Amino acid sequence: MYDVAVIGAGPAGLTAAMYAGRYGLKTVFFESVPSQLAVVPNIENYPGFQGSGYELLEKMKEQASRFAEHKLETVEGLRKENNKFIVKTDSGEYEARAVIVASGGKHRELKVPGEREFVGRGVSYCATCDGHFFRGKKVLVIGGGNTALTDAIYLKEIGCDVSIVHRRDELRAEMALQNEIFRREIPVIWNSVVSKIEGKNKVERVILSDVVKNEEFSMDVDGVFIAVGMRPRTEIASGIGVERDSRGYIKVDRMQRTNVPGVFAAGDCCDNPLKQVVTACGDGAVAANSAFAYITSKS
Ligand code: NAP
Repeated sequence: MYDVAVIGAGPAGLTAAMYAGRYGLKTVFFESVPSQLAVVPNIENYPGFQGSGYELLEKMKEQASRFAEHKLETVEGLRKENNKFIVKTDSGEYEARAVIVASGGKHRELKVPGEREFVGRGVSYCATCDGHFFRGKKVLVIGGGNTALTDAIYLKEIGCDVSIVHRRDELRAEMALQNEIFRREIPVIWNSVVSKIEGKNKVERVILSDVVKNEEFSMDVDGVFIAVGMRPRTEIASGIGVERDSRGYIKVDRMQRTNVPGVFAAGDCCDNPLKQVVTACGDGAVAANSAFAYITSKS
């Protein structure tokens, strides 16, 4: 029987596991899929750290593992039996008094013709993973948020001929990243959306629609990097009655409590307004503190 089971091993889950372990709680954390942080090429806004997301994540994981058990198992279900929770994974079942859900998010799809067909043949959701295949080639990044701009900067850095397409005339990304893409002269195609991705065996071109002029045009490209946001992974939590908002994010209060007593949530799967590594860590610490208060109030 564990005191706390943490679902997820990104910055929120690892911080929660480390804090819970340091509170003297018997803690386990489950790593099913790699955190999104693992593929961030460069972290500039986590205080005291400069380097790749992978490097930061590995340091966090090593630190959390000193205080909590790390299991590389996929969580398949969560249920409540009497006063304990049962976490079902692909390898077994684990009992815990409290659960911290830190299951993060996954990339959103564009849902246009050609997208699914060309995944791995020119369509990618991960510039760090696939960018090197496109060195010296023409690529298009779709989106106007922090991920799209970070991807575009990385792709330019490794030698791709990169452009960005954004559906509005204003970027959503933070100003530091906007300044960087303009400094590097990365062109932005404004007010346009990709309506189709075409090619024979691999991506050869995209069909774009100018949403202001209501005109279609074609652009020859070798690669399409889709960075149009995330969808939270919250299905497992919702299975035991955890409330979510209309976009699927877990509703939490300021103490990271969900509506289900004993279930807490942290990081990108929550309905918090800012999704950054530093805020995910903060959520994780608060969630562990709340789990500690919950467990000690019961014993
Ligand atoms: P995001 O902030 O939600 O931005 C998604 C972008 O894709 C927006 O510009 C959006 O356009 C566009 N978009 C959405 N659906 C689209 C569609 N169907 N067709 C075309 N464009 C579409 O997502 P994100 O950039 O992945 O970031 C996710 C979270 O992680 C954010 O909170 C972000 O701040 C954080 N993050 C932070 C950093 C960092 O701090 N360096 C790096 C990466 C991510 P609109 O602008 O018109 O809505």
